[in-house]
Amino acid sequence: MSGASVAVIGGGVIGASVAYHLARRGWRDVVVLDRGPAAGGGSTGRATGGFRAQYATALNVRLSLLAREKLRCFEAETGVDPGYAECGYLWLAGSAEELAELERAQRIQRAEGLTEAVLLGLDDIAAVNPAVHPSGVVGAAYCPSDGFIKPLAILEGYLRAASRLGVGMRWDVEAVGLRRRPDGSIAAVETTRGPIEVEAVVDAAGAWAATVAAWAGVRLPVVPLRRQAATSTPCDLLPASMPMTIWAGDGFHIRVRDGRVLLLQPTPGVPDAPFDTRVDPDWVDLVERAAHARVPVLRRAMIDRAACWAGLYEISPDKHAILGAAPECPNLFFANGSSGHGVMHAPALGQLLAEIISDGKASSMDAAPLRYGRFADGALLPGSGVL
Ligand SMILES: Cc1cc2nc3c(=O)[nH]c(=O)nc-3n(C[C@H](O)[C@H](O)[C@H](O)COP(=O)(O)OP(=O)(O)OC[C@H]3O[C@@H](n4cnc5c(N)ncnc54)[C@H](O)[C@@H]3O)c2cc1C
Repeated sequence: MSGASVAVIGGGVIGASVAYHLARRGWRDVVVLDRGPAAGGGSTGRATGGFRAQYATALNVRLSLLAREKLRCFEAETGVDPGYAECGYLWLAGSAEELAELERAQRIQRAEGLTEAVLLGLDDIAAVNPAVHPSGVVGAAYCPSDGFIKPLAILEGYLRAASRLGVGMRWDVEAVGLRRRPDGSIAAVETTRGPIEVEAVVDAAGAWAATVAAWAGVRLPVVPLRRQAATSTPCDLLPASMPMTIWAGDGFHIRVRDGRVLLLQPTPGVPDAPFDTRVDPDWVDLVERAAHARVPVLRRAMIDRAACWAGLYEISPDKHAILGAAPECPNLFFANGSSGHGVMHAPALGQLLAEIISDGKASSMDAAPLRYGRFADGALLPGSGVL
């Protein structure tokens, strides 16, 4: 295979966004490699398509607001409608402590300019989502400009726009190693179709990113975590415009997509088989029972067991993205660890990494807190148990 200025390993939504933004900044001979036969075979194709700016850290709020600005002009920029629908996110608190945490997060959101996020009492909750059973609910946080996006449309938009700008897509090509120079920098990506000489490499390998980093001698703290999604058979029990509705205590949430109700609830994954993406039938029973108790109209819904699916989150230690150069290997760049928010943040992360690669630092917002070195410096970003 011929040489490249930048080889992007991973053609999911993050790699596609990085490649597009590099090409838009004038980079030539950018290639994207993916071992899959076509786009969407990784986590991007498994995502449910939530978009939110309601986070508990200023950094994640800023990433979402930058991404939202870009989603609003995405179709003009790429020619593809990203499906951004402002249906809202409704976070239900089951205790005073949870409500206090939502309130604390909302103060951070408002300081970042997300002024439309509000706290709701029980009457307002019933108005926003009448399907919710009020038992055990003490209040909520709601943001009407949160909502939904179409993961595969965003991926397609960035791939198409990148292609138009000359980016080469190489499907069915697996990166299998990195050849390094004596100074530690990367000279070539070894692939199943031969080496590609490079000036720089972007690790956009999603849940598999740590393997790529290890070839350069870097320990990237990104681990896979299975996320399961249950789906009803097609039904019209809930409106398509219903907000994403999340019980903050255990993360159980529901939304309507393509005429079906999706039910999700986080689990610890499969500790001894972290890349396992089989659906646990007991988990499907669990979320079905939760749905019956919390959204009584769903007692009339049928679960389509054959259509339930699972995929992988790419978890970093503080559940924030890792963005920028590897200190030990200055021409290796990370765009990893979004921890389950990668689709919604991809428009922002791609732009920021293209700025870092081109200019040495990001200019659209301060991305330095996302640097890899934060783990060694003890500068982990603050987390939240709820959102
Ligand atoms: C059930 C579920 C629901 C989700 N819901 C949401 C949501 O509502 N909103 C949201 O923002 N995010 C959501 N996510 C998370 C989101 O899917 C990820 O954060 C995002 O897709 C990460 O994008 P990526 O490009 O990094 O990874 P991927 O899409 O996984 O892309 C990585 C690519 O790298 C390729 N690859 C790996 N190793 C190699 C190699 N050695 N050589 C060549 N290619 C390689 C893989 O084939 C893959 O295509 C969800 C995830 C799951 C599983």
